[in-house]
Amino acid sequence: MSKKTSLGLENLNEDDGLSEEERQKLLLYNKKVVCPVCDNNFNARAIKKSSYRILKKDSDFFIRYSIINPYFYDVWVCDECGYSAMKSDFEHLSDYDANIIREKISPKWKSKNYPEVYDIDLAITRYKLSLLNYYIINARSSKKAMNSLKIAWMYRLKEDEIKEMEFLNQALENFQNAYYNEPSPIYGMDKFTTMYLIGELMRRTGREEDSLTWFSEVTTSNIASQKIKNLARDQKDLIKDVITETEDNNPTDDSSDNKKHGLFSKFHK
Ligand SMILES: [Zn+2]
Repeated sequence: MSKKTSLGLENLNEDDGLSEEERQKLLLYNKKVVCPVCDNNFNARAIKKSSYRILKKDSDFFIRYSIINPYFYDVWVCDECGYSAMKSDFEHLSDYDANIIREKISPKWKSKNYPEVYDIDLAITRYKLSLLNYYIINARSSKKAMNSLKIAWMYRLKEDEIKEMEFLNQALENFQNAYYNEPSPIYGMDKFTTMYLIGELMRRTGREEDSLTWFSEVTTSNIASQKIKNLARDQKDLIKDVITETEDNNPTDDSSDNKKHGLFSKFHK
């Protein structure tokens, strides 16, 4: 609480008599958007600049926010025709793809009554709508990858590990496709950042051995930035620490098969 005060957010304290929802409403505004599919003008909910705080960044670039969560407002949905996409992609739609949305999404679309303030379940619903649109127009793998990754992050927030893994795997598959078939940068990530992320998603989904290969490619590169090399080195060390620790804990176990099994099962937990 004292932290909030020192950040000059006294007006957001609990004593203002506002409910959490009313407090969040004050941090939002309506942004006018024109739908590239049906020309409908609609209001997208958007967060006022610098109304959130960054608490922590996870090793796969997920940012944990306090006060209000920008991920909740990341997907724009046209309520008229059903076209949905992450806001950075929304306006970039070819005429060809707009036609596909008109033919395959719009006839099935039922208008929704979204509330003014979004929560995590609504965020997941909207991210899934967006992902469905990407699959139907056969969007680039990078889009499906980033969208899937963000769904995985939302499940991480909800502490639903099974769903998180499902979408991390989907993200990983699409990032690998993107890596081999698309030019960099991918959502602002240069080639080495994408390689690091692929390694990290492998590590998180239980493919530690494969992830070491990707991390090593980054750490031994002459042209990768020092920042991304350091990240890759940290994650490599993390895997090696677990290997050492597991070996230390099993001094009498000389079956390498068992050792391996022990390492990976421990790591997965
Ligand atoms: Zn529309």
